[in-house]
Amino acid sequence: MSPPQTALLDGLFIEPNQGFFTVPEQDGVMTKSTQSQHDWTIFKQRLLARQAELQQEVDSAEDELEASSRDGAQEPEDTAQLAEAKEVRQAEVARDRQELDSIGRALDRLARGVYGLCVRCGNPIDLERLKARPESTHCLQCKEELEAAAAR
Ligand SMILES: [Zn+2]
Repeated sequence: MSPPQTALLDGLFIEPNQGFFTVPEQDGVMTKSTQSQHDWTIFKQRLLARQAELQQEVDSAEDELEASSRDGAQEPEDTAQLAEAKEVRQAEVARDRQELDSIGRALDRLARGVYGLCVRCGNPIDLERLKARPESTHCLQCKEELEAAAAR
């Protein structure tokens, strides 16, 4: 027995190939259920693209660092400059790794269906904020509260 092509549920027709249906917005406010059912495809694509880009950067920087430490015998006056350049590169790699971490967590939340929800209060994170930083984990209010607490 195949299921019926359309089902009537609480007055809503569900199209068979839609995959999901969106709960109507209540008074224009996005509820948690609509937020988690939001179409995150573009965010996911952006996160994956950024992840690939960062991974490439980290890989090539590490090759570079490895090569420079292999080269060894340099003139003494070059050494300080090289060491400084190496430090800068290492700091860049550390930053990239941190961002990769955040992106990994964001992709994980996407997979678990909790992407776009604040990890602290569970409220939806502002879409504009997510567009600017797709790896955001906190709503603006929580972020400000956390930053204020950290500054104390
Ligand atoms: Zn929050």
